[in-house]
Amino acid sequence: MTNITDRVLATIDTLTDEAVAFTSDLIRMPTVNPPGELYEECARFIGEMLARCRFEVEYYAAEGRPEHTSAHPRLNVIGTRRGQSMHPLVHLNGHFDVVPAGGGWTVDPFGGEVRDGKIWGRGSCDMKAGIAAAVFAAEAIRRAGIALTGSVEISGTVDEESGGFAGVAWLAHHGRLSAARTDFAIIPEPLYVDRICIGHRGVYWFEVLTRGRIAHGSMPFHGVNAVEHMGMLLERIRHDLQPRLAARTTEVPVIPPGARHATLNINGINGGQPVGGIQTPCVADHCRTVFDRRFLLEEGFDATRTEIIALLDEVARDVPDFSYELRDLMVVHPTRTPDGSPVVAALDRALRRVLGRSGGLVASPGTYDQKHFARIAGVHHCVAYGPGILDLAHQPDEYVDIADLMNATKVIALALLDLTATA
Ligand SMILES: [Zn+2]
Repeated sequence: MTNITDRVLATIDTLTDEAVAFTSDLIRMPTVNPPGELYEECARFIGEMLARCRFEVEYYAAEGRPEHTSAHPRLNVIGTRRGQSMHPLVHLNGHFDVVPAGGGWTVDPFGGEVRDGKIWGRGSCDMKAGIAAAVFAAEAIRRAGIALTGSVEISGTVDEESGGFAGVAWLAHHGRLSAARTDFAIIPEPLYVDRICIGHRGVYWFEVLTRGRIAHGSMPFHGVNAVEHMGMLLERIRHDLQPRLAARTTEVPVIPPGARHATLNINGINGGQPVGGIQTPCVADHCRTVFDRRFLLEEGFDATRTEIIALLDEVARDVPDFSYELRDLMVVHPTRTPDGSPVVAALDRALRRVLGRSGGLVASPGTYDQKHFARIAGVHHCVAYGPGILDLAHQPDEYVDIADLMNATKVIALALLDLTATA
């Protein structure tokens, strides 16, 4: 095994230029989501690379999804390289959509520039370098002339940044990702090159509408102001709910430490007449607020929602004429890789071999496609491990260190050897 390990690691040392060039090429395709630009081109580009690396390549358009349109087709790509048997099968999945560049860049966000030992651009760390690490990890094993007993799949999927419904969720719903086929999954998201990410918190997005009664603005006492009522609700949240949430801490190793607690963000608010246009004197008769509540594995969704309703009912008891409607917008349940998972053990061993250390387990403050692997496909032995610094994701001047890229490639390659076992 040591001999094989050394051969693979030495091969990866010869692949740096190719891995960097592939990452840069991917960055130069602005696969911006929304709306989902250049997905088809990017899927085919990844597919051609997989074919050159002797994968059998299949394409899956997300038929039936409303966001799969002729203007913005949702095309996913999967490459399969069969070993002596189909199992164990390790699936490496990367999303190739990126968030919009936004302002504040000092480099071309879609230039794929290579400078100072880094690859720059939108999607460099989140997560086109991760896709390159997956491809070149598998390619290094092939070039080292090693035959695996089990099989490897690599997918490039769409829309992770907007929920992954036309990407990993679609493939899972249509049986292409399933517990029967897929034994282990690694998602090379940027969660630090020495850490293994075992899941994420839950998400509950909801909208609260307060209803008032319109009246002349010169005689507000004749009406009920829905914006004022929303203000009272927000005040109650700040005073009563926020401290309770902050006092709750999960056992799951969520990073950064602030995200170990339950959180609530006010995402947007509007009420009364649209501000900026011509106004007429009226008491605001409605106000809507969208909330983003991140809940802990230990809290669970039912208790999270019940707590919100209890708070709303409390305000309704205390404030005359307070009337509200609650609408659920999105629920993502927390996900956690099972204790003792072989995929965690394999990555941990690989980290110690490649970096001489393992930074241990972390969990993501947000969510990513692991939820679909676990909850729809039933693939529970799934983690995120990949190159890049989480904090740089979605920021201006995003970059990935080439050293991180190549180290992650080595770690993934050794985990592949370990999990599929060599012949
Ligand atoms: Zn990502």
